Order: sequence, then structure tokens, then C-alpha cells
Amino acid sequence: MGSQVSVDVGSMHVVIVGGGFGGMAAASQLQAMNVPFTLVDMKDSFHHNVAALRASVESGFAKKTFISYSVTFKDNFRQGVVVGIDLKNQTVQLQGGEVTLIHSQVALADKELLPCVRQEVKEILLRKGVQLLLSRCHFVSLPAPLPGLLRFGSTGERVSNLEELPVNEYREYIKVQTDKGTEVATNLVIPCNGIKVNSSAYCSAFESRLASNGALQVNEYLQVEGYSNVYAIGDCADVKEPKMAYHAGLHANIVTTNIINSMKQRPLKAYKPGALTFLLSMGRNDGVGQISGFYVGWLMVQLLKSRDLFVSTSWKTMKQSPP
Ligand SMILES: Cc1cc2nc3c(=O)[nH]c(=O)nc-3n(C[C@H](O)[C@H](O)[C@H](O)COP(=O)(O)OP(=O)(O)OC[C@H]3O[C@@H](n4cnc5c(N)ncnc54)[C@H](O)[C@@H]3O)c2cc1C
Repeated sequence: MGSQVSVDVGSMHVVIVGGGFGGMAAASQLQAMNVPFTLVDMKDSFHHNVAALRASVESGFAKKTFISYSVTFKDNFRQGVVVGIDLKNQTVQLQGGEVTLIHSQVALADKELLPCVRQEVKEILLRKGVQLLLSRCHFVSLPAPLPGLLRFGSTGERVSNLEELPVNEYREYIKVQTDKGTEVATNLVIPCNGIKVNSSAYCSAFESRLASNGALQVNEYLQVEGYSNVYAIGDCADVKEPKMAYHAGLHANIVTTNIINSMKQRPLKAYKPGALTFLLSMGRNDGVGQISGFYVGWLMVQLLKSRDLFVSTSWKTMKQSPP
């Protein structure tokens, strides 16, 4: 995706719901290609959650993990919680408001429209309470972490005496009990939340396309099954691979290519999950990993990831400088 490429998109407009690793990468690529888009996120900043654990223990690091959407995407960013998608009327419903999608036939992006007419139409509609005008809902990305159930290891057992346990505190003896009767003696209890796909924004619109984990069933082009103009990327795409920021970025590349290809009536590009790539940082100077089936030692992991946990990559993608 070259930064100077400009694509003639007619009156098409892409709506990206969720500015996580997938949505932010897609928005950056569309912006670079001058493809009209609107990014909607409930937060005002992209959160580089990969570095969240370091932010929780290293003073001053947290501010490096939040990157303002509006600085990068300006008026193409809209803050709000998406509570529903009306496919028939092409509207994305926000909590306490609505993004209105006007079909391309009457879109304000129509090249034939005089700028003064366009401006006046905008002003009239804004006066009437229409909050945003877009021409076409092209793709949807709706992944979101939610606190998961507290589980006991990977056994599927739930801790039953959590409220009585001293957390994050060393003790000579702590007894942890589970709902299946297991008892474990330990010295330290650290509560950990898992994450799961939050499908609340799209579950009613795409009820028949939900996988058992709440993700959206997609075809090889990452289009939601049965919808040629709706794509799912990142954690909310039901692709048989681990849920990772790295994969969300790869999905974004495929989807932006396919949006362009579909406009130019070129064949779409298929997404093929690759061999597992995993870099596990353990502090700034340590870690271990695996790339395409090969072991990667601490030095490589330290150089590639542990020092800044890819924070600078996100700032670079959003064309901003870290604090
Ligand atoms: C602590 C932690 C460490 C991790 N470490 C790594 C790692 O080292 N390497 C790696 O590859 N992956 C890692 N991951 C996983 C990785 O972060 C996820 O796979 C990745 O964030 C998925 O990207 P995404 O774009 O699908 O969704 P997300 O990044 O989760 O973004 C979803 C976005 O959608 C928004 N949103 C959700 N619902 C709505 C709604 N209804 N309305 C408006 N906005 C909405 C959210 O605000 C959010 O900005 C880690 C995850 C966590 C939590």
C-alpha cells in the first residue's frame, strides 16, 4: 500500500467499526489511498494493548500506549459506541445517536454535485439532526475485549472462594478452592481476566453468521458469509488461528486490498493463515519465540519486541511521535 496512491472510488465510503489493531491499520491504509472512510470507536485513542502489562508496572509508560485517533484521522474519526447495524437502511447505530449512511445514488461524494450544493445539503441535514453522511457501509470490524470468567488454570474450573482470598499478597499459606472441589495450597494469588469477543454491536444484524465464540463467519476473502460489502477482521473474524494483533494487521492488509479490488472489479485476494509466529517478551531484556516453526532465542526477541513491545510501530502507523 503506497502512501501516495490515490484511488478513484466514486461515491463509495467505508465505515470501520472499532479502531483496534485491525481497524487502525485499515484506516491508515485507506487514508493513505484517499479512500473516504469513517472510523468509529468508543474510545478517543487507539490503545496499544500489547504493552498494557508493562504500562501497569512501569511508571509513565501508559501514556505511550494511547494514541489519539482524531490527531491522525481528523474528521474521519467519530467517537461512539456502536449498538447495532441496520443492513437494510445502511445505518450504523450509535448509543445516543446514529451514523446515517446514504446510498451512493444520493451521496454527497457524487462528483457531479457542485461544492456549494454539497455544502448546503450538509448544513440542512445537520440542522435536521442527521449526524454523519456516508455513502455506503463497506466493512465492519467489531472485535472487543471483555472481561472473561475467572478460570482456574486451563482446566475450566472456577475459583469458588475468590472473595476470601488475599490477592497480590504473599502469604505463608493460601487455600484456593474450585467449584469442582479441587483445593490448591499456594503463597500468592494474582487474579487474571481473560478476554472474549464482544459481539454486542453486530450480533443481531448478523445473528445467522455468528460462530460459537461470537466471532463472525467469514469466507477466504474475509467477507462476512453472504455479504460482499461487509468484512470482518481481527479478533472478531472467525479464522482458525490465534487471536493476535499481528494477525489483525495482516487481515487489514487483505481487506483494504479487497475493497480496492472490488471497486476496480479485479479478483479478490484470499487470506491464508500462516505458520504460527509468536514472540513472548519477559521484561525488556528477555523473551523467547517461534517464527514459522523455528525457535527464536532471547536476543532476537529482545531486539524485535521486548524493548518497546512494538509501541513505536503503532505511533509510526498513525503518523505521530511518541511522548
Ligand atoms: C494484555 C494483552 C497483551 C497482548 N499481547 C499480544 C502480543 O504480544 N502480540 C499479539 O500479536 N497480540 C497480543 N494481544 C492480542 C491482541 O491485542 C488482539 O488480538 C488485538 O488487539 C486484536 O485486534 P482487533 O483490531 O481485532 O481488536 P482490538 O484491538 O481489541 O480493538 C477493538 C476496538 O473496537 C472498539 N470497539 C469494540 N466494540 C465497539 C463498539 N460497540 N462500538 C465502538 N467501538 C467498539 C474497541 O474500543 C477497540 O478499540 C494481546 C492482548 C492483550 C489484551
